[in-house]
Amino acid sequence: MNTVVDTALIQSLDSAHFLHPFTDFKDLNGRGARVITRAEGVYVWDSEGHRILDCMSGLWCVNAGYGRKELADAAHQQMMTLPYYNSFFQTTNVPAVQLAAKLASLAPDVGDRSFQHVFYSSSGSESNDSNVRMVRRYWDLLGQPQRKVIISRNNAYHGSTMAGASLGGMSGMHAQGDLPIPNITHIEQPYYFENGLPGETAEEFGVRAAGWLEEKILAVGPDKVAAFIAEPVQGAGGVIIPPSTYWPEIQRIVDKYGILLISDEVICAFGRLGHWFGYEKFGYKPDLVTFAKAITSGYMPLGGVMVGNRVAKVLIEQGGEFNHGYTYSGHPVACAVGLANLEIMEREQLPQKVHGEIGAYFAQRYAELNDHPLVGVAETCGFVGGLVLVKDKARKTRFHGDDGVGMICRGHCFQNGLIMRAVGDRMIIAPPLIMTRADIDEMMRLIYLALDLTQ
Ligand code: PLP
Repeated sequence: MNTVVDTALIQSLDSAHFLHPFTDFKDLNGRGARVITRAEGVYVWDSEGHRILDCMSGLWCVNAGYGRKELADAAHQQMMTLPYYNSFFQTTNVPAVQLAAKLASLAPDVGDRSFQHVFYSSSGSESNDSNVRMVRRYWDLLGQPQRKVIISRNNAYHGSTMAGASLGGMSGMHAQGDLPIPNITHIEQPYYFENGLPGETAEEFGVRAAGWLEEKILAVGPDKVAAFIAEPVQGAGGVIIPPSTYWPEIQRIVDKYGILLISDEVICAFGRLGHWFGYEKFGYKPDLVTFAKAITSGYMPLGGVMVGNRVAKVLIEQGGEFNHGYTYSGHPVACAVGLANLEIMEREQLPQKVHGEIGAYFAQRYAELNDHPLVGVAETCGFVGGLVLVKDKARKTRFHGDDGVGMICRGHCFQNGLIMRAVGDRMIIAPPLIMTRADIDEMMRLIYLALDLTQ
């Protein structure tokens, strides 16, 4: 395929016509963005021929890597057979059914929450909107309509729709558009580096941080709380990895008050943490699991909610018609690509790879960054990594305000052929799960180069 483009022309059209998401439009004025034209394996190329190691898997989604002909073939074949049909009016399609059954077979059994059902959407944001609708419907059907409040966490990311952004805990997003919508409230995130007390161990902090949920439930009134939503590891907030004690304590609290637990696994599912689902990594039992992104390795837009039996039973047996759904719920092409993608992941044992030897090598190499003078702490969980940049390592003095240190570091990465993302003073990665030892070594060389240039 010809990928030669007139860069100046594309950039001027870009700046003239394309309003990019999460972008200061002025930044691209008259200049346009870097044009990415092709990709293969773990690399992408720009229109000027520069090769870039993509350690963000696009946007946390290309878990199986780029250039998978099987996925293109699956899409082509499905488009020629049945490109679209809706699933609203008592019709269905083969790939949507097969993928739902496949997901049910992959999700580990968690007692009365076992996952036998899937509700489809096209994105993580839409899926979280569906969660809000389903959770409130569930409590209505159980005769507890006052249970409307959903508790989330500061700095969480749950999407960009009105409900998704409200569930999220990003103050910048709340400031635009009069958010959050009613009956959504937030607690502090389990960020030990920031919120741990002097002398407090990470494990002690994990229990204390989970305790903020109980405090919030009591403040709201336990009979008014519908659900708690959280990412297993907070991703877009800067890869905040909870201490090992956090999730067991959260489980104890949601069980004590009988509230539903939503695990937003838009990033953490499909091998990212070394398991099919993120809740397996931490051993908790959600009622609803949000998925998107890597279900198709990003090759087609597809999202959804795995609905545990506790909720599904009520919706199915007592619910009547559920007045909610999307034109593209169960899109046959997206689902065919999802199935083919899961087949690749199973065949190549990608979750097991992350759980096993290559994951251990990734963790070991990334941990070496703890010795760099600019790094406060560097941590990984499966194939996500985060580090915090500090001014003074001994005193853990952070960069603050407008110094833009993360963006400076990100710029050095990008210039030298590495995609690493900046979130304030944190640098984060989520590489494709197909990374080899040699790719990891190259990633580390480029990270060190960027850190040295940032100092
Ligand atoms: N939930 C989480 C945890 C996410 O990380 C994201 C996106 O990054 C979303 C939801 C929103 O997904 P989408 O951008 O597909 O709407």
